[in-house]
Amino acid sequence: MIRYCKRCIMPETKPDLYIDEEGVCAACRSFEQRMEVDWADRKQKLLAILDRYKSVNGGNYDCIIPVSGGKDSHFQTIRMLELGANPLCVTASTDMLSDIGRHNIENIKKLGVDYIEVTTNPVVRRKINRLGLTQVGDISWPEHVTIFTIPVRIAVQMNIPLIVWGENSQNEYGGPAGAAENDVLTRRWLEEFGGLLGLRVSDLVGQDGIESQHLMQYTYPSDEELARVGVTGIFLGYYVPWDGYSNALIAQAHGFRTYNKPVEGSLINYENLDNVQTGIHDYFKFLKFGFGRATDLACLHIRRGRLSREDALKLVKMHDGKFPWVYLGVPIEDVLEDIGMTMDEFVKVCDRFTNKKLFVCDSRGNLVKDRDGNLTKVNYDNVE
Ligand SMILES: [Zn+2]
Repeated sequence: MIRYCKRCIMPETKPDLYIDEEGVCAACRSFEQRMEVDWADRKQKLLAILDRYKSVNGGNYDCIIPVSGGKDSHFQTIRMLELGANPLCVTASTDMLSDIGRHNIENIKKLGVDYIEVTTNPVVRRKINRLGLTQVGDISWPEHVTIFTIPVRIAVQMNIPLIVWGENSQNEYGGPAGAAENDVLTRRWLEEFGGLLGLRVSDLVGQDGIESQHLMQYTYPSDEELARVGVTGIFLGYYVPWDGYSNALIAQAHGFRTYNKPVEGSLINYENLDNVQTGIHDYFKFLKFGFGRATDLACLHIRRGRLSREDALKLVKMHDGKFPWVYLGVPIEDVLEDIGMTMDEFVKVCDRFTNKKLFVCDSRGNLVKDRDGNLTKVNYDNVE
């Protein structure tokens, strides 16, 4: 039986998510605490930090904003410009960039900022996508590495100490309390929560013809380099109220483009619009842990009072964890062909990473799938 938070619908199978004796998860508790935050005080603290890091005589940028082009990136950039900062926006190019993703990156530039896009070798990238998928069940592994390493490398190279990240995902989505209260991103944070899943960058050397020279952009600067520049980071979500939905409204008012319907496997049309591989990434989360993007979003909206728990359960049953035949309108065959994998191979990898305890199996212990390849969870809510 899968146990769920009584307040939202997150299962306890989510990594690092603790559900307390009252049946409430750490993410819901963390949100409770946000109600008591003195936001005026936090804003003063933010202004003091920005003042401390302001470039003397405008000779350099005041900070780096790591951006993907999404709604949160728009919000970060808009807020920082409002606060008088002169930021350098940095994008670590995503795996299979969609047309909407490209539009939205160009739109951030038009907000009035200097911008760097760093694209890693796509031939090597596809190999790493495949290795990530087959070895740790995450096609997006290289993306999750480079969104953390590339902005930090630029910070070192260009002598810009302050990096303004978006939200602390451990705070919004739950996690160990020590990490949730951390407003600085460190190398340790990357290694623990940055999504490496036990596959180290150095492990790739020698596989599939990958050499260490291909992995520069995947490598975090050394402690000496970080110390020389004094690189530090803050989570903007710690200092200003943060809500993905309102970020999307603000972003849209500034030209951000959304999908023409809810994204496949999700409940909304305003996020994860840039990488066509994300459908596969989210599906593997479902296979491993029994929840997908629809559950994540339902929980965010339940906490903010925009969705009842009862309705959320119905919507999640309808949309969560469906076999990712299409994502952002692109058929899965195209995505698999790009990384050199057949559908048969893919289904085998799926089955290998599926936690059979979470899904209905037949008497011989084989996963039961419907004609669309979809699995059924053993239970969708706590059973009284
Ligand atoms: Zn909860």
